[in-house]
Amino acid sequence: MAMRPHGIMFHHFHGGSHSASQGSIDAQTFADLIEYVERGRILPAHEWLGRAESDSLRDEDVCLTFDDALSCQYDVALPVMRDLGLTGFWFVHTSMLDGEYSRLEVYRKFRETCFDSLIQYYGAFEEQARNTVGCQTVSNALDQLDIGTYLSEYPFYTPADRRFRFLRNEILGEARYTQIMDEMIELFGQSIESLGKDLWIDADQIRSLSEGGHPIGLHSHTHPVAVAELPPDRQRWEYKTNAQRLRTVTGSSPRVMAHPCNSYNTETLEILEEIGIAVGFRANMVEDDWSRLECPREDHSNIVREMQTCGSPSSPETKPATSR
Ligand SMILES: [Zn+2]
Repeated sequence: MAMRPHGIMFHHFHGGSHSASQGSIDAQTFADLIEYVERGRILPAHEWLGRAESDSLRDEDVCLTFDDALSCQYDVALPVMRDLGLTGFWFVHTSMLDGEYSRLEVYRKFRETCFDSLIQYYGAFEEQARNTVGCQTVSNALDQLDIGTYLSEYPFYTPADRRFRFLRNEILGEARYTQIMDEMIELFGQSIESLGKDLWIDADQIRSLSEGGHPIGLHSHTHPVAVAELPPDRQRWEYKTNAQRLRTVTGSSPRVMAHPCNSYNTETLEILEEIGIAVGFRANMVEDDWSRLECPREDHSNIVREMQTCGSPSSPETKPATSR
């Protein structure tokens, strides 16, 4: 792992009522990862924040970060951290506190719970797309797909992954993709509300994290997938609303943030400074110099992969992280 200060980024966990999903890890793998990284390198989150602000982070310093305010993080990862006396940053979008669910997570849950495999989901999606936009239109468009070159920068994608992404990204676009997914959810007798129930932590849990020494940070209000493509006014609304909601819950103003889907531009950074954010995190490791609002993070799946290659201390049953 790189020897320069960085965060480790976590998303999904499984265990208890939380079923395994793509890239998810269990409590044991989480504990093994902490041991592999070296417990002593992991700073309490408030100390990291202080050191980042005073430019005194050391090359070996690492911190733990959790994106998207997921219940599985609270139920599976938090007890492990309590046992080890660790704290982390929690980057919390807030629309779900108003009962508005981010589609990204809901669709993931639908895919994971209503289909036996990704292939089965892809098949059902393509069929629904043919019903919605016309069979001939989809067939003609798919004829243009060159499976050997499309998204070749992602060598781990299977031909089926490429076909699905071509259909979704190049043929349908965001609005029709959303329409088709919502139609499928209804056909399966599900709803956004039923799928979104219990996916995220609530206000009491956010407050309890904050009181337990875990800094709560911004992650936008509605979790757009491409903040950088939004006009500055909308970006400002996303972060100001997010900050205001979190202040209501925790009683203090957030000073830290993570960029949703790693998307931001110079306007975003100006807005964040304007609302008093001292430290921000990217969603990957950068090679060049980074500003305090663009601290690098390593995805946990890269470390799990490294552990499996090098042999991890005590987890023969580690569930492999799957690439998307
Ligand atoms: Zn996120």
